[in-house]
Amino acid sequence: MEVIIKRSNKRKKTIQARMVGGRMEVLAPSYISDAALQDHIARLQARLVKSDVPRNDDHLQARASHLNKKYFHGVLKWSSITYSTRQEHRRGSCNYTTKTIRISNRLVGLPQWVEDYVIVHELAHLIEPNHGKRFKALVRKYPLAERAIGYLMAAEAMKPST
Ligand SMILES: [Zn+2]
Repeated sequence: MEVIIKRSNKRKKTIQARMVGGRMEVLAPSYISDAALQDHIARLQARLVKSDVPRNDDHLQARASHLNKKYFHGVLKWSSITYSTRQEHRRGSCNYTTKTIRISNRLVGLPQWVEDYVIVHELAHLIEPNHGKRFKALVRKYPLAERAIGYLMAAEAMKPST
């Protein structure tokens, strides 16, 4: 896929991509480094290719089962995992007692590997309710955890404040 990058000093908030005549046009703020942009482009391309994957509660259940097998030996059990529209769940929440997991529906537009990190984070709360050492060790089993945290912080910082 041919990619054309357009940088703008005026653009402050987000990176956008659109398909123009079979080519991908990427609009980016000028302060974002080439390396960071390449990362974004790779993910945007993957998203354009796989944009038909529905992000619904079935999708969440399937991702959680996959991540449970891959990083927790399949031992975790939860009663439900669903998208939440509640604003106080910035990324997600896990009720340690009822074993219900909610994932913010604002993550729907983010790359799957970032959403996977949030799911791993909430799955880890099934074992460890706090964010202590034990919790961090669990989350770090997901190899992209640090990158996903950085990605989320950047994405949240770039959101319009309205
Ligand atoms: Zn947490």
